[in-house]
Amino acid sequence: MTSEIDFVNRIFYSYEHYKEPSFSIRRFKHANILPLIERLKRSEVFSISKAGESVQGRSINLIKFGNGKAKVFLWSQMHGDESTATMAIFDMLNFISAYDGFNDFRKLLAESLTIYLMPMVNPDGAEAFERRNSLQIDLNRDAAAMQSPESKLLKETFDKIKADFGFNLHYQNILYSAGHTFNPATLSFLAPPVDNERTITNSRSNSMKLIGYLFEVLSNFIPGHIAKYKDDFEPRAFGDNFQREGTSIILIESGGWKDDPEKQFIRKLNYTALLAALKCIAERKYINLKTDVYENMPFNEEDLMDLIIRNVTYRNNGVEYKIDVGITRIETNSDNAKEFYYQSVIEDIGDLSTFFGYEDYDFEGMELLPGKTFPKKFNSLTDALKLNPHELYGQGFTNIIIDSGEENKSQKNFPFYIIKHEQSKSPALKIGEVANFILKLNDKTRHVIVNGFLKEP
Ligand SMILES: [Zn+2]
Repeated sequence: MTSEIDFVNRIFYSYEHYKEPSFSIRRFKHANILPLIERLKRSEVFSISKAGESVQGRSINLIKFGNGKAKVFLWSQMHGDESTATMAIFDMLNFISAYDGFNDFRKLLAESLTIYLMPMVNPDGAEAFERRNSLQIDLNRDAAAMQSPESKLLKETFDKIKADFGFNLHYQNILYSAGHTFNPATLSFLAPPVDNERTITNSRSNSMKLIGYLFEVLSNFIPGHIAKYKDDFEPRAFGDNFQREGTSIILIESGGWKDDPEKQFIRKLNYTALLAALKCIAERKYINLKTDVYENMPFNEEDLMDLIIRNVTYRNNGVEYKIDVGITRIETNSDNAKEFYYQSVIEDIGDLSTFFGYEDYDFEGMELLPGKTFPKKFNSLTDALKLNPHELYGQGFTNIIIDSGEENKSQKNFPFYIIKHEQSKSPALKIGEVANFILKLNDKTRHVIVNGFLKEP
């Protein structure tokens, strides 16, 4: 294992040489990958073919590398807003086509494996940055009904390749923890089951062994942050169906990592995981491994929230209560899906000692007051921004009314929560409501929370 770990370290620490520079954020579209596909066509080591088209006519491409006996098929982004692995695939293709100290490894891959890659299976979903395709069908629940052209294409390609290993690359909610811990499940794996009994077939056993290997080598970089995805049989999902046909399927879910909203560190982990897996398959090392590492991996648990404030005092009808408040922030697309804003939600109130927050504060002794709405109405955002937020916070205001009906683009740095004229509400501490609070100590405003983000007064 030591030599394996040395190798994976070299892959991880040399990543910047191969990182595809045209991606720096996770909201990119089909038009962003087309020039990369064109560039790959000029390389001698790859053969590229158009596999087919999406509902809206966007090309879905298949990239092939190597001439070895063992076949590996990787596909990404069948959910349009799950782009992390697509970036990692193009990083990996840059690595494969380079010429340097890793040439022996490239030779091993080319001679032992034939690798097929289908990045961005759902380009229409990527365009809207949505999970589903443009028919609003979830492609990973279409493996049995097979109604979407993207699903048919994936299945036809799978049938032609008859791969030994398949990598189904996804992205999961950042609020999953690795077991009952405060560690986000940064990567979660699954050897998809073939039936409700979770029978361990030969192909599934190989998936489990390979995942166990990845768990061990990747734990050096993110100890305690790797989990197992829930292993219920899903007859409509591709991984489960492909596993049943005898291909060893590895589902990789990229999750959360603190202060990595654009998933660039997780992208690097994906890249490292994929190259480590290819080496393990090329050298047939998985055969001698056991399934126990996989079996002992912690499951994803839902123990995380974006922000938790603890031990605050809340007054109701003159009685004081001590509570924790848990807040999540929902990423919401703006019009062109290039940008997004957060819409916060009060997720839970009470004793949250079994939960962890990405941001987690003990505000013992402070009084929580729902933020009030400033009475004057504004015509535009520009007018409202002339206000001094600190003065308003001091008076208990967190919300402003803008008559023009501009959508709430409340971001991390925006000082107020915008309420449209017709939506004006009286402040309340209520599950499901937006998190706008003033936190007072000795009658002074000490902290402010606007749309789920902590601000200093
Ligand atoms: Zn997914």
